[in-house]
Amino acid sequence: MKKQRRHLSGWGNFRPGWCDVVTPQSRDELRSAILQNTPSTWISRGLGRSYGDSAVNSGGLVIDHTTQSALIHIDSERHTVRVQAGMSLGTLIDHILPNSLFLPVSPGTKFVTVGGAVAADIHGKNHHRDGSFGSHVEELSLLLPSGEIVTCGPSRNSKLYYATIGGMGLTGAILDVTIRCLPVESAHIRVESYRTGCLEETLELLNQTADTHRYSVSWIDALSSGKELGRGWVLAGEHAGSRDLSTSLQAEPFHLPTRPIKSVPFHFPGWVLNRWSCGLFNERVYRRGIVSGNVVDIDSFFYPLDRVHHWNRIYGRAGFIQYQALFPFESSAIAIKNMLELLHDSGQAAFFAGIKSAGPASGGWLSFLSPGFTIGLDLPYRKGLDSLIEKWDHFVIEAGGRVYLAKDSLLSADSFRRMYPRWQELMELRQELDPNGVISSNQSRRLGLDG
Ligand SMILES: Cc1cc2nc3c(=O)[nH]c(=O)nc-3n(C[C@H](O)[C@H](O)[C@H](O)COP(=O)(O)OP(=O)(O)OC[C@H]3O[C@@H](n4cnc5c(N)ncnc54)[C@H](O)[C@@H]3O)c2cc1C
Repeated sequence: MKKQRRHLSGWGNFRPGWCDVVTPQSRDELRSAILQNTPSTWISRGLGRSYGDSAVNSGGLVIDHTTQSALIHIDSERHTVRVQAGMSLGTLIDHILPNSLFLPVSPGTKFVTVGGAVAADIHGKNHHRDGSFGSHVEELSLLLPSGEIVTCGPSRNSKLYYATIGGMGLTGAILDVTIRCLPVESAHIRVESYRTGCLEETLELLNQTADTHRYSVSWIDALSSGKELGRGWVLAGEHAGSRDLSTSLQAEPFHLPTRPIKSVPFHFPGWVLNRWSCGLFNERVYRRGIVSGNVVDIDSFFYPLDRVHHWNRIYGRAGFIQYQALFPFESSAIAIKNMLELLHDSGQAAFFAGIKSAGPASGGWLSFLSPGFTIGLDLPYRKGLDSLIEKWDHFVIEAGGRVYLAKDSLLSADSFRRMYPRWQELMELRQELDPNGVISSNQSRRLGLDG
């Protein structure tokens, strides 16, 4: 199979590395790519939407799964679908929506593969109610470094299953997945939005809306300070039933409007996003609001950023870091306040920030969320950012929290171990399944997960 040398990074465009990429056209090709590559290292890659280096393997092999993307079976009675892991969530929606089904968990973009969603055990705006993606996976098949294919699920080879959901591709290549979907009556969401004046109010409203709504999320103005620190908007949503729809939508409840797609054609110069321009943007969003209308289609509610391709180029060639941390409820308010104050003192800028509430953990050994609040911030990469992030990492550990591996670019092995106590079990299982240590990514090496 032909190898292509490519300069790869995650979505943050941060510190790319040269990798050999293969794109298998069949399961057999995938298997021989892995076996022929031994004893050199490989890692699976989906659509490269993790922000950091989890799907990058500098100097080694990267397996592009996006051609392994077939629909295997939809069971409309049981509300399940089985697909190959390289299928994007966007394509999956196209298949299931006409069957009155929707994704059980939706991230902020449709350009994520099912394999990537499982490997990062992704979450959406409904974690407080429905948990993460892995909680809706009935079964998956995994290609091990030995070439053996193993089927696993919560009650079958469960150890392997819980190591794989959230396992960042480090147990094997996910081949196909059976997902339990959510029955819906339309492709629309009934939305309510509330402006908040400070962090306490934002957290209070997130708590309230988490009790009453399936979806709850906030945008915050990360550059506000003093009494207004943490001000923003809270958005709550429910799937719309037919009585919520206008007469024209009732006629075609699953129809999605097509919208023009824009694209950012080149990397912006690094100076464009600074404290001043980020402040101006945040002020404008705060004044205008984040959603218009009471009933919006799923694309507008879940995936507004997908309308602009390559939007990550606005951060310039140095790229950006998306930092997402979870804090247990009891330490959240003070921890988030301190984090934002550290951001202000550092002189760094955050273009975008949001807070969500999180519910029960999925059981994945390296899964991110458990009950608490999670805050995510997009930060253009500038001198001094590493030191801010190191301070935040210590702070997260002190508060009993952790950072999200699908967004991580800079976490040290020591901090990782203090955030994810089950790292040792994963290392032991990896030793068993992969004694030659062939599965490896830049992230797994940085986090000391390669033994
Ligand atoms: C705009 C945007 C919004 C986002 N919003 C959210 C959000 O709301 N919630 C959330 O949780 N995440 C969110 N993310 C992150 C994203 O959902 C995850 O990083 C996801 O893992 C990306 O999937 P991918 O297919 O692009 O995988 P990649 O980025 O290519 O890979 C991610 C990890 O999955 C592994 N992997 C991929 N495919 C396979 C496979 N077939 N077998 C084994 N391992 C595999 C890789 O080895 C790697 O470790 C967002 C990302 C972006 C860019």
